[in-house]
Amino acid sequence: MSIFDITKEFARVGRNQVRNIARLVSRQPIVTPSLASMTLDMDDVVLAHQLLNDPSCWQEEETTRYELEFAQWNGSLQAFAFMSGREALSACIQALGLQPGDEVIMPGYTCVVVPNAFQFAGIKVVFSDIEVETYGLDAKHIANKITSRTRVILLHHLYGLVCRDYVETIEIARANGLAVIEDCSQSTGALFRGRKIGNLGDIAFTSSEQSKVLNTVQGGMAWTNDLSLATRLSEVYQRWPLPNAKWIDYQLTNVILNYYQFKDSQRWWKGDLMALRYGSKRLISTSKEDEQGIHPSYYGRRMAAPIAALGINQLCKVDTYNDQRRRTAVYWDQWCDTNGYNKPVVIPGSVPVFLRYPVMVEPEKKRDTSWSRSELGVTLGVWYVSHRHPVRNGVDGCPKAEQAVSQCVNFPCII
Ligand SMILES: *Cc1c(COP(=O)(O)O)cnc(C)c1O
Repeated sequence: MSIFDITKEFARVGRNQVRNIARLVSRQPIVTPSLASMTLDMDDVVLAHQLLNDPSCWQEEETTRYELEFAQWNGSLQAFAFMSGREALSACIQALGLQPGDEVIMPGYTCVVVPNAFQFAGIKVVFSDIEVETYGLDAKHIANKITSRTRVILLHHLYGLVCRDYVETIEIARANGLAVIEDCSQSTGALFRGRKIGNLGDIAFTSSEQSKVLNTVQGGMAWTNDLSLATRLSEVYQRWPLPNAKWIDYQLTNVILNYYQFKDSQRWWKGDLMALRYGSKRLISTSKEDEQGIHPSYYGRRMAAPIAALGINQLCKVDTYNDQRRRTAVYWDQWCDTNGYNKPVVIPGSVPVFLRYPVMVEPEKKRDTSWSRSELGVTLGVWYVSHRHPVRNGVDGCPKAEQAVSQCVNFPCII
């Protein structure tokens, strides 16, 4: 650690503890349910230590095993693991054979890394408005956005919900000869008509970044049920390198760091201790480069075996955690009813996983979320704070997305 890093970590710890004392004095909870690293437990920490201490226990076939187990769990033909959701998306773009100048229609309410993946491939991104029942693409606006260059529609399922216009969007795509990519990053494991999401479109991906349903700190998966797309996906996969040893070391260290910072019941002090020890290895998921739409140098990696080992461990727990999320959602449903807010819509035939429970509140309650700590004992998430989160520049012509940007807050669902 450089002197600069040490100073920075000490300053951070100092600020944290001052804040903790202020909370104690004002009788607010010191720790609140986590919105990050929700599914990390001591078994993940033990595994990360093992993998760090003894790289000889890395088994190359772990990645294949993870892909097979995921595909089976997800009810999909073939799955391929990458180092992030965005890289998995880039692999999908290549597998579909999209070319520079082609156009994609996608929701104007997303993470910046999603449009970036298309832009890196020279594809023009056309944003279309969402509905505010499930925060997915509003099918009624899609037809207006189709041009002779449109090749693909990206639909997403947010907050653990299944998007309202799932079937209709796919029908529009089919009628117009367009491919469908499903972004399942926030709803991994949600069901629609008895089947996991991500199996109705042509190709799909998810993220196992630390704030998602499955957590490998960073990671992603792409899958398809189409044999020829699977072959093309596998060609991209074979071409792409693994991350280097330093990256793997950092990522495994982040399992330990994140557990103590975000999940351990005594995280208010253990987190700081671990930050002093490991803080110089902290990985961030969206960098300044990503925000500026600059192609990161590392981009395009398949998943390394020790990261897949973490994924396999997460898969063992995912159904239990998703059950727990659904139970918490019942509590938030009651809260909405009591307080006069609209509940998110669970579409007929769907079983959501409630990564986070989204509610539209008054804009001032999103601008300053501190009320929730004292009133509800939880900290709110603010996905999304802009159309291309977290980049602040707006996107024109998406008024419903605009409304969600100013009003949608997210309650934690593992509490
Ligand atoms: C997190 C997320 C992504 C990107 O996943 P990374 O693993 O961070 O690249 C894409 N789309 C949605 C909706 C997400 O929530």
